[in-house]
Amino acid sequence: MSICVIGHSNPDTDSVTSAIALATLMNAQGQDAKACMQSSADKLNPESKTVLARFGLTAPEELMDAAGQTLALVDFSDIGQGPANLESAEVVAIVDHHKVGDVTTNQPILFRAEPVGCTGTVLNKMFKDAGVAIPKDVAGGMLAAILSDTVNFKSPTCTDDDKAAVAELKVVAGVEDTEELFMEMLKAKSAVDGVPAKDLLFRDYKDFDMKGNKVGVGQLELATLDQVADCRADLMAAMAEVKADGRHSVLLMLTDVVKEGTDLVVLSDDLALIEGAFGGKLENSSMWIDGMMSRKKQTVPNLQNAFGC
Ligand code: MG
Ligand code: MG
Ligand code: MG
Repeated sequence: MSICVIGHSNPDTDSVTSAIALATLMNAQGQDAKACMQSSADKLNPESKTVLARFGLTAPEELMDAAGQTLALVDFSDIGQGPANLESAEVVAIVDHHKVGDVTTNQPILFRAEPVGCTGTVLNKMFKDAGVAIPKDVAGGMLAAILSDTVNFKSPTCTDDDKAAVAELKVVAGVEDTEELFMEMLKAKSAVDGVPAKDLLFRDYKDFDMKGNKVGVGQLELATLDQVADCRADLMAAMAEVKADGRHSVLLMLTDVVKEGTDLVVLSDDLALIEGAFGGKLENSSMWIDGMMSRKKQTVPNLQNAFGC
């Protein structure tokens, strides 16, 4: 029976391309393995679809139930992120770059986890250690995964090993310009065309309690603010509707990943308080905040201070 190589649920590009890469390595070493994923090919996220198409890779097979299967895990080792019945399946290998999770095994297994930015970086080392050449299309997928997971080297999780792997993989994959590849992926990920404004607002949205005030904060990661120029009025109308439903404030972070800053759109019962939180001045309900990328690490703490939480 084939070993099913599989990444985490709600798969990202690393989970998909690492399953392909490890299955390829295992096959080269004489093991019967195939790439799987916890998604159907048509429901895969737009970024991963773009990467598979660009490098001519076949989408991994859908596997939602692991009962009776032999598995190799990539990009996770938490039972909660695995397919159904993972506990009753036999896990024979784990390759990852996260904290060690709660999967346990009865036999000794191949377990390789490193504190780097992407599973693709670990797999690049494994191919080298094994003396196996990485096929061009597989290298392209691994390259894309590293750029995605490290946000083009800008994430605090990025290491020198990730940069070194990109330098090697781009040659194998025949990619001259990794900036261009990253932008193609980012544009696919942040596509807004045809998506209703309320869906965009709620794509990545959380409500917070600030001293008894309900405050909503949404975020859209964009390649350029031009992507939302045409739907800005619709987005504000959606925000007004959400605010009218018992909220003190609704904020929408329009984050320009390239310029590394956020156009913060604000509707609030106390605009001065929000301006004070970020030391800016609202014009037409928004203000540009240089360097603001993270809701968790930047936006919410500033709001909590301003509300006196
Ligand atoms: Mg992942
Ligand atoms: Mg990853
Ligand atoms: Mg990720």
